[in-house]
Amino acid sequence: DSILDLAPYQTGKPVEELTREYGVSDVVKLASNENPIGCSPAVTLAITEQLGQLSRYPDGNGYYLKQGIAEFTGIKLDGITLGNGSNDLLDILARTFVGTDDAIVYSQYAFVVYSMLAKMQGATGIEVPAQRFGHDLDAMRQAVEDNANTKIVFIANPNNPTGTQLERAELRQFVASLPSSVLVVLDEAYTEYSPESNNRALLDEFDNVVIVRTFSKAYGLAGLRIGYALSSAPIAGLLNRVRQPFNVSRIGLAAAAAALADQDFIETVCQTNREQMQWLEKQFDTLGLGFIKSHANFIMVEIDDEDTAAINQALLEQGVIVRPLVGYGLPDWLRITVGVAEENMRLIDTLRSILTDD
Ligand code: PMP
Repeated sequence: DSILDLAPYQTGKPVEELTREYGVSDVVKLASNENPIGCSPAVTLAITEQLGQLSRYPDGNGYYLKQGIAEFTGIKLDGITLGNGSNDLLDILARTFVGTDDAIVYSQYAFVVYSMLAKMQGATGIEVPAQRFGHDLDAMRQAVEDNANTKIVFIANPNNPTGTQLERAELRQFVASLPSSVLVVLDEAYTEYSPESNNRALLDEFDNVVIVRTFSKAYGLAGLRIGYALSSAPIAGLLNRVRQPFNVSRIGLAAAAAALADQDFIETVCQTNREQMQWLEKQFDTLGLGFIKSHANFIMVEIDDEDTAAINQALLEQGVIVRPLVGYGLPDWLRITVGVAEENMRLIDTLRSILTDD
C-alpha cells in the first residue's frame, strides 16, 4: 500500500525532450542543480585510463577513492561508505535502519527523497512544519520525543529546494539533545558551495551522526552517480552489509578520485557560483520577484500572484528549463539553478519578456 502511495521522483525535463516537443535547439537547463561548468579536466584522463578495463569488475571496496576521501576529510577508511550517487546512500541508510514499525523524521520543504524512503520502507514519515522555509530544529526534537520509534532524522544542509542553512551551534545542540539511538543523517550535497555548512566536526563528538555527500554537484559528475557517507566504523560496517556489491562503477571510482584531488577546480566553481548568484539576486530585485537567500547553487524565486505553471510553460517553450515546486507544496515558487553568465542572462531576458507581456 505504501508503494502505491508513492509518487515517482520527478526529474528535470531532459534537454532532448524540449527539443522534440517545442523544436527549440538551443536549450538552457537550470533545473537539476548541476554544475554548468562541467568537471575537472583531470577527470577525462582518469576515465580514459579505465576504458580498456571495462570487462573487469571495479574494486568492490573502492580503496583508492576511499583513501582520497580519508585524506580530504580526516575520517579513516573504515568510516567511509561509497554509493551510486548520494541517493543510493540515503536508500542504504533507510534499508539498514528503518523497518515497518519505525519512523523517519524530516522537515517540510526538505529534499523529497526522505519522505519517499519512509514510504519505501513501509515506515512512518513524520514531516515537521518548516520555519521560514528552513528546518525548525526545536519542533524536530519534539517530533523525535513524541515518536519513540524514530530511527533516522534526515537534515539537508544546505537544504534543497529552499537553499536555507542551519547554524553550526544550533545543529550541534540539536544532535546533543537527541537520544544516541537516533541516527542524524546530515545531507551535505551542496556543502562545497558553503563552507559553514560543513559539519564534519560533529563526527568526532557523536557516534550517531552520518554525513552524506556527493560528486554530483560542485564536482560536476552527476552523470556518473557517485557519493560518499562518513560515519563511525560500526555504522559503516552495517551499511557495508546492506549495499549492493559493486554499487559504484570502475569509471565512477576513478573519476571521483581525480575530481577530489583537484580542489582548485572546486574553488573556481564556487567563485563563479557566488558571482552569478549575486547577479541573479540583483536581477530578481529589479524584476520585483521575491527570493529566499540561498547557500547553494540554486535559488528559489517567488512568482507572486502570477500563474507560476503558465510562466514555467512559457519558459519551456522558449527553451529554458527550471524546476516548478508544486510537488514540494510550493506552487508559487520556481527553483532555478545558477548557470554560467550566458545562461543566466538568457533566463532573465526570457523571464522579463514573459512577465512584461503579461
Ligand atoms: N541530497 C540532496 C539534498 C539533493 O539535492 C540531491 C540531488 N537532487 C541528492 C541528495 C542526490 O544527489 P545524487 O544522488 O546525485 O548524489
